[in-house]
Amino acid sequence: EALYRIEGWGQPYFSINEAGHITVSPKGDRGGSLDLFELVNALKQRNLELPLLIRFSDILEDRIERLNACFNKAIAHYNYSGVYRGVFPIKCNQERHLIEDLVKFGKPHQFGLEVGSKPELMIVLAMLDTPGALLVCNGYKDREYIETAMLAQRLGQTLIIVLEQVEEVNLVIAANRELGIKPILGVRAKLSTQGIGRWGTSTGDRAKFGLTIPEIMEVVNKLREANLLDFLQLMHFHIGSQISSINVIKNAIQEASRIYVELATLGADMKYLDVGGGLGVDYDGSQTNFYTSKNYSMQNYANDIVAKLKDICAERHIPVPTLISESGRAIASHQSVLIFDVLSTSDVPLDLPEPPQEGESPAIKYLWETYQSINQENYQEFYHDAVQFKEEAISRFNLGILHLKERAKSERLYWACCQKILKIARQQEYVPDELENLEKIMASIYYINLSVFQSAPDCWAIDQVFPIMPIHRLDEEPIQRGILADLTCDSDGKIDLFINRRDVKSVLELHTFKSEEPYYLGMFLNGAYQEIMGNLHNLFGNTNAIHIQLTPKGYQIQHVVKGDTMSEVLSYVQYDTEDMVENIRQRCEKALEEKRISLTEFQKLLQTYEQSLSRYTYLSF
Ligand code: PLP
Repeated sequence: EALYRIEGWGQPYFSINEAGHITVSPKGDRGGSLDLFELVNALKQRNLELPLLIRFSDILEDRIERLNACFNKAIAHYNYSGVYRGVFPIKCNQERHLIEDLVKFGKPHQFGLEVGSKPELMIVLAMLDTPGALLVCNGYKDREYIETAMLAQRLGQTLIIVLEQVEEVNLVIAANRELGIKPILGVRAKLSTQGIGRWGTSTGDRAKFGLTIPEIMEVVNKLREANLLDFLQLMHFHIGSQISSINVIKNAIQEASRIYVELATLGADMKYLDVGGGLGVDYDGSQTNFYTSKNYSMQNYANDIVAKLKDICAERHIPVPTLISESGRAIASHQSVLIFDVLSTSDVPLDLPEPPQEGESPAIKYLWETYQSINQENYQEFYHDAVQFKEEAISRFNLGILHLKERAKSERLYWACCQKILKIARQQEYVPDELENLEKIMASIYYINLSVFQSAPDCWAIDQVFPIMPIHRLDEEPIQRGILADLTCDSDGKIDLFINRRDVKSVLELHTFKSEEPYYLGMFLNGAYQEIMGNLHNLFGNTNAIHIQLTPKGYQIQHVVKGDTMSEVLSYVQYDTEDMVENIRQRCEKALEEKRISLTEFQKLLQTYEQSLSRYTYLSF
């Protein structure tokens, strides 16, 4: 377990069972579990091919319950006289079944939704029917966005339009005059509190979104002049996603609470404070403020927000607001697991060649001697020698002095030296910097049936680290070290950052691949942002996805969402597959006429071509 640190990032949903398989406990500590390997086999028997995204709706429910429980506990503990009303930012994952589940599981908590664009607004207006739930409208807005939002207030939810730019207030005032509807407005403030990590620049004066303090004053003045200052009821901030340090959250809530009370003092009818997203996910299980982790629990997060806000409101005798958070990552990440298979592997040559022969190049002799003499004391120095002798061999080859056969032998000797050095280095407490890379150079390449660009774009775009590990054979020692190479013809289509025993490493410990047996890997905690940000590089489409729910007797497959077929991805780039089939038929006719193809081949080609178009874009065996 320690190897992949599953006890850190997996709790309480993922663990390893006695059969050496991953167990999923979708209800967290509330009981019920599934063997993931057996589940995948059962799904394959239903013709659901890999790669396969499995969504556990019970995990989603558990995340919503936890977040609400933490805020409610903090509210009770600090005697906070307001309530918590969370909203889910649908940008994290807009998939229909997931949003349906979210609305359903959120009902007992009046959990609402947040949108950041017009199309997202369309979804939410149609989906959110929870009485009293909040609908927070963020993002850049035009007149149409604002009018739709104002009219939709009549549907029964509390809809709040958050101003991100000063001009939006003019649109609101105009729409109010025309429609006669009174909106609830918010302002998104650019805090001076600096975020942290990858999204640290989401705040500050030059941040992309929100209003500076002078701009907020301008909005207040405009509303006051129009006699509409009572429209302004919410103050919002978002200091970036995946905040790894609790101190940043403490500083932000302090500054935001001050702005809130000032707005109330200026005469706005303040009722809501929206703390945005940022609640982190512990991807590496280390509970540190490293960018792949977070140094606080969900309860610490809720406590610090509630306590600080209460204090500052009390100090200024301002009633506490309804507290809103827009946690996306912390709600949606855990519920989906991506399962994919290994297709083959490739290794550097590791067998030791014959000793040097009479007349062979001196480079071969030196490499051989280096290999024989490597030991604990000299391995670092001899690594440099091996590199130098290999480079010499290549130079001699380029000058035409070394034959291909000799070059091959010198390269094999070089790899043998590296292998011997690596074995020694692995036993050392401290590995010298220059040898750190050796592990990666020597790693096997595991070719995986997946597109990183489609299924884990953040791995490629921002070096995001998701937990990845085999879902079976975990009772067997993984003696190989590998990196993962995907199906795309792109050298960036690889994964070479993994969570390891102690930290993040460039190689993953894996089992020896046996071509006659399937070898399944799982990528965990990737339910937020990945699906919608995924792209069609090389025309690998959406993967198959299923929704699973635990039942007293086992589990139930609630929905199967078939992945894209080749026809579907081709239509995204404006191909008409009927035309394409017709084109192939006509070319076959011509080839037949010119006797380049037999009738049987003609028939087979056409049949295969047509059938392929309706198939999955990934490889199947
Ligand atoms: N709210 C806003 C305005 C955002 O921009 C984001 C994402 O960056 C979120 C909420 C969700 O943040 P997180 O996924 O960190 O909870």
